[in-house]
Amino acid sequence: MKYQELITVYEAIAGTTKRLEKTDILAEFFKKVNVDTLPKVVLMALGTVFPPWSEEEQGLADKLLMKAIAEVVGVSLSMVEDQVREQGDIGGAARELYKKRSQTTFFSKPLEIEFVFSNLRKLAKISGDKSQSRKIAIVLELLSSATGIEAKYIARTILEELRIGVGEGTIRDAISLAFNVDKVILDRAHMLTNDLGLVAKVAKEKGEEGLGQLNLSPGKPVKPMLAQLSEGIDNSVREMGESICETKYDGIRLQIHKKEDEINLFTRRLENVSLAIPEMVGYIKKSFPNENFIAEGEIIATKNNKPISFQYMLQRVRRKYNIEKAIEDVPLKLFLFDLLYFKKSMIDEPLAIRRSTLEEVVDTSLDQINLSEMIKVTCENRNDALDLFNKSIAEGHEGIMIKDPKEPYIPGIRGKKMQKFKAEPESLDVVVVGGTYGIGRRTNFIGSYKVAIKGEDDELKTVAHVATGLDDETLASLTDLMNKYKVHEKGTKIDVEPKIILEIAYSEIVKSPEYEAGYSLRFPVVKRIRKDKGLADIDTVERLKSMFKG
Ligand code: AMP
Repeated sequence: MKYQELITVYEAIAGTTKRLEKTDILAEFFKKVNVDTLPKVVLMALGTVFPPWSEEEQGLADKLLMKAIAEVVGVSLSMVEDQVREQGDIGGAARELYKKRSQTTFFSKPLEIEFVFSNLRKLAKISGDKSQSRKIAIVLELLSSATGIEAKYIARTILEELRIGVGEGTIRDAISLAFNVDKVILDRAHMLTNDLGLVAKVAKEKGEEGLGQLNLSPGKPVKPMLAQLSEGIDNSVREMGESICETKYDGIRLQIHKKEDEINLFTRRLENVSLAIPEMVGYIKKSFPNENFIAEGEIIATKNNKPISFQYMLQRVRRKYNIEKAIEDVPLKLFLFDLLYFKKSMIDEPLAIRRSTLEEVVDTSLDQINLSEMIKVTCENRNDALDLFNKSIAEGHEGIMIKDPKEPYIPGIRGKKMQKFKAEPESLDVVVVGGTYGIGRRTNFIGSYKVAIKGEDDELKTVAHVATGLDDETLASLTDLMNKYKVHEKGTKIDVEPKIILEIAYSEIVKSPEYEAGYSLRFPVVKRIRKDKGLADIDTVERLKSMFKG
């Protein structure tokens, strides 16, 4: 099938803002495309050639793409750059520049969808020596056989930004419409496989029955089951009758897949982090039986066997270089809490069975591989849940999870069958030392407040910018107060005498060289203005330091 046909669809979709029209256009096209090309078309309509969990990316820098366009069109790089500025994106610029193209390849055959798809995939496979020039060669081959409009969309697909206003929801609706399949069945198939290309193909070939047979498959991550906030331990336990209570660890959720000899580790956003934490792959290999499986757990960073800030865990999974050193500096521990697949799919089994199977099959003799601490609670021994909560907090964890042992695993759903109960984070009293006027609706208000705490010798040390948590009325009165205490103003920024005390909540203390305190706060929110407190009452760097889990 000609790439031009897909382009016509892209343009028609981009030409309407109405979601229903976009869905109709896509559905008509999906009906026309043959089953083997359909999965590719589905990915390409999402602006990519890889499924969402894939580690692969095309990895071509903007600059190289612009160079390739310059070469094909026969203009200078700076001309391409000017055009990009004018058009707002490289694809749009390519389309304009192709109008000036000096040499057209008269003998080139029209591009086929399959050809474009496989060449774009090839880009990801190229690595190592001279990889950039080999990538450029592929892009040049594609671009030199392309028309202007094709070049526009090839460029956008390389950058994974199609800009036609289509997301997974529209694609799902279009598949359902094209092949007359029920949306609930289709959504379930999508949740389990995370592969809309496959879902489209099965819907076309085998309809609802085929979709109903799709299931989990080790190697392909599933969207995790999510928790709701508990309104109190007592409440949750009474609601569920019998429940499983577990320590809630504060790290990163990990979905562990073993398929034959390969282990892959995915985050809750389905990113593959196996290469960033290779030692964990090794521990898992040693501790799980040699079967295909999917398990879930929380992985935390530790120091002297104690949990440390979530910040370190993030650094570990994002790290691409010097991994050996990171393994030494930030040891990890895994706490397993669910089993989704073991020889066969387990998600329809009740949690109690999934958990007991997990306990049977995993060897926890390694220090790094653990099961989450768990107790079974009924209405009679609800106090045990409170004890577990207190113990978990005392050990530096976040709180507890309360789960219904009778329930299946429902991917991607935030339901009442799994609840979380966290400790109220401590708040801090800080003093405002400056602020910045807002933008848009809030130009007349100071929207962001620079706040400080006390260092040694009572010197004020900045610690955060707090921008949220205030209603308009409070914002207005605070802005008045700020003006009253103003000592200096420049542009949108204002400095004030340290008179206003705020109580702020936050999710975590982090190390930060940007602030004088040397620490800062994640997601700081103003809880209230503390008119009852003065400068003498504000918190100190020392206290912050003692609370930091580092
Ligand atoms: P939240 O991120 O606040 O929505 O809380 C739910 C998250 O807690 C899950 O996604 C897991 O990453 C994490 N978690 C920590 N310990 C457990 C546990 N024992 N069971 C389930 N989830 C846990």
